[in-house]
Amino acid sequence: MAPTEPIRATRGVRDLLPAARAPWQVAERAAAVVAERFGYQEIETPIIEPAELVERGVGDETDVVSKELYKFQDPGRRWLVLRPEGTVGVVRAYFEGNLNQGPQPARLYTQGPMFRHDRPQAGRYRQFYQFDVEAIGDPSPAVDAEVIELAWTWLRELGLGRVSLQVNSIGDRNCRPAYREALLAYYRPLRADLCQDCQRRLESNPLRLLDCKEDAPHREAAPKITDYLCEPCRLAFAQVTAQLDAAEIPYTVNPRLVRGLDYYTRTAFEFWHESLSGAQNALGGGGRYDGLAEALGWPATPAVGFAAGLDRVVLMLAEEGIEIVAPPAAEVLVLTDGEGLDVAAGRVGRVAREVLPTAVDYTVRSLKAKMRSANRTGARWVLLMNAEEAGRQVVQLKEMASSEQVEVAWSELGQELENRALALEEMQP
Ligand code: AMP
Repeated sequence: MAPTEPIRATRGVRDLLPAARAPWQVAERAAAVVAERFGYQEIETPIIEPAELVERGVGDETDVVSKELYKFQDPGRRWLVLRPEGTVGVVRAYFEGNLNQGPQPARLYTQGPMFRHDRPQAGRYRQFYQFDVEAIGDPSPAVDAEVIELAWTWLRELGLGRVSLQVNSIGDRNCRPAYREALLAYYRPLRADLCQDCQRRLESNPLRLLDCKEDAPHREAAPKITDYLCEPCRLAFAQVTAQLDAAEIPYTVNPRLVRGLDYYTRTAFEFWHESLSGAQNALGGGGRYDGLAEALGWPATPAVGFAAGLDRVVLMLAEEGIEIVAPPAAEVLVLTDGEGLDVAAGRVGRVAREVLPTAVDYTVRSLKAKMRSANRTGARWVLLMNAEEAGRQVVQLKEMASSEQVEVAWSELGQELENRALALEEMQP
């Protein structure tokens, strides 16, 4: 039976239509270019992963796993998830693909969709997109700074200005327990005042309380992790900030910054945008996660990474007035006046396509209707041809902006389009 309502997309997801894709393409391409400039190589990992990988790697305590996971049984009755983040998949692939046997660290990047079943709102979607960078197999604090510099360079090259970098160290398994105790001692008497979530996670994961938006008033007086760092962690953090200073990257040391995911050690950082507020203020973040590989059953391996939300980066490009206009689908459009000219039109299209993006209009309708549609596509040039012209192997080349029209032989067409494209390029600032 036919549905009574037209079928629409599910809640919290979006289509990115061609007109909206332009800034995405710019952001994605810049991400790849900058990552490769730093010597990072592209990796693709599956969108579906074993549920256990994410549950163990991200941690059962986190909202991402306990509340927001898209988890299902496949027809083979295996428990799978749609990946909510990229790191655990990349780490799994690093070992399964024997990248741990290659040069260290493995410098990797990936881009793609992530899934979290959260309450949708502006800047928060159930399917969103991340640019992920991971450097696996090197404990050097300088690599932490390198990852930060890569991310910073990317945001800068996109033209984003109102971004601040927040950095912190959250210690390691040696010094964090004492800090944890100090936090517990501070928060226990305040228990009744805390939000429901925080009351629950007070004993299991008190660091997360610093992350809570509702309990912000208590955060100010809470003990600071920076006062509890052991000597190696303190030194490592000093090395990270020294590298940032040398790279002239401005940052704020934010002792309240913790990461929502359990596997982080030492360096934690976030990029905030002035116009993002509340729970959605981060464009991206990352840190060192020396404990993750072991938690997944692989040999203990130091690593550091970063993930940015492309959705929010694109939103902030618009917010800062950085306009990226979608280019026309094709610069050149081939049009025929009359029927039976598809083969000739295809041939002309093939010649033009050697030089510029070219589409051929094969629809059966009047020339007038085709011209109207050509106008709407934004094509710069139209190549017009009727049966007589096709017989002589010529087209009328029309420049849409000026309506100027000249006859060009098919054999000359490539050169003619090239000249015009070059002339246009030279005119541009
Ligand atoms: P996280 O893995 O939670 O640290 O997220 C890293 C970045 O991904 C965030 O700073 C956001 O920019 C982006 N992000 C996370 N969750 C969402 C979401 N539901 N919708 C859009 N972007 C998100």
